Amino acid sequence: MSITPLMPVYPRSGVRPVEGDHCHLIDEDGTRYLDFASGIAVNLLGHSHEGLINAIQAQAAKLMHVSNLYGSPQGEHLAQRLVEMTFADTVFFTNSGAEAVECAIKTARAYHQHVGNDHKFELITFKNAFHGRTMATISASNQEKMHKGFLPLLAGFKYAEFDDLDSAKALMGPNTAGFLIEPIQGEGGIRPASDDFIKGLRALCDEHDLMLVFDEVQCGVARTGKLYAYEHYGVTPDIMATAKGIGGGFPLGACLATEHAARGMVIGTHGSTYGGNPLAMAAGEAVLDAVANQTFLDAVAEKGERLRSRLEQFIGNYPELFECVRGKGLMLGLKMKVEARPFYVHLRDNHRLLTVAAGDNTLRVLPPLVAGDEEFDEFLDKLSAGAADYVFEPA
Ligand SMILES: *Cc1c(COP(=O)(O)O)cnc(C)c1O
Repeated sequence: MSITPLMPVYPRSGVRPVEGDHCHLIDEDGTRYLDFASGIAVNLLGHSHEGLINAIQAQAAKLMHVSNLYGSPQGEHLAQRLVEMTFADTVFFTNSGAEAVECAIKTARAYHQHVGNDHKFELITFKNAFHGRTMATISASNQEKMHKGFLPLLAGFKYAEFDDLDSAKALMGPNTAGFLIEPIQGEGGIRPASDDFIKGLRALCDEHDLMLVFDEVQCGVARTGKLYAYEHYGVTPDIMATAKGIGGGFPLGACLATEHAARGMVIGTHGSTYGGNPLAMAAGEAVLDAVANQTFLDAVAEKGERLRSRLEQFIGNYPELFECVRGKGLMLGLKMKVEARPFYVHLRDNHRLLTVAAGDNTLRVLPPLVAGDEEFDEFLDKLSAGAADYVFEPA
């Protein structure tokens, strides 16, 4: 047999972490890496956060899992907190981002089909989006590299240009159910949608009774200096998917909705065996305890500004490598003038700095939200050294 025991779907690097220490990862062989990838915007409290560890340990000893056939004091409590802090009235807990988006898609379709508008099943999504790897969520993205080998796609998705209201409008028709969008594209290259565009989508939804669905799996949970990125835009979605950071490293996601939008999600329409189990709820509570307060959020916003201005200064020294800095809070991207992936590999292998490559030749900078000046100094040192000794082909 030549296939590896781990299904070989990832191009795994030689970095093999076995331990975490705040903002660092320690490899099998003892090498320390500065982790400004955070498990792709997951470990927002870093790797050894006492509150999170204690919460998980205590809950594991008490009760890990029960069926959703029983009442859930743990789920009710966390859902109530999310409801109080967001636009939403109700929450469905999942174990991942794709499941949260899947639930959001079903909620949007059910909104229309619940009242007999069975023809309104089409969601307009946006080019270069990433919504996950299930059949529905790959169908929701126009990226052919994710489709290849898995056809046919699920029907009911149309792809508009990101940040282009006319393009979205042009795809609307009698079958339109709503829009599904990342307010800040993550995998697509840290591209924040403009204010006018998001407000325009909201207005179209209000005018035509459509669902505005936000995928905040990457940009949500304090990452941008707000609990959720929609708060930057002064509009609220009808439905929202959240995951990644919300468990701080424990698998947890959620689909949030208003009462109005969730009218189709009645008994028997959806479910999950693990979703909302007490252990996951304890992790979610510990994360909210740490991040869901104005002091923490303001600190993220302020740190984001500081890191951004340092990055802007830095890229001035390497105009042949970098085009601009973009993003919000501590969800930052360095748009490069050369291919981003080989530079990311160079930083990783030669400078022990972990970042993430993204679409549009963007290097994603996603530090744990608990990182501070000490880590920013180390980051800029490594990044500068990496830029200085980088050998590349000019574009
Ligand atoms: C990561 C991500 C997902 C998928 O989350 P999984 O937990 O990998 O299923 C969906 N949407 C966005 C915007 C993401 O960044």
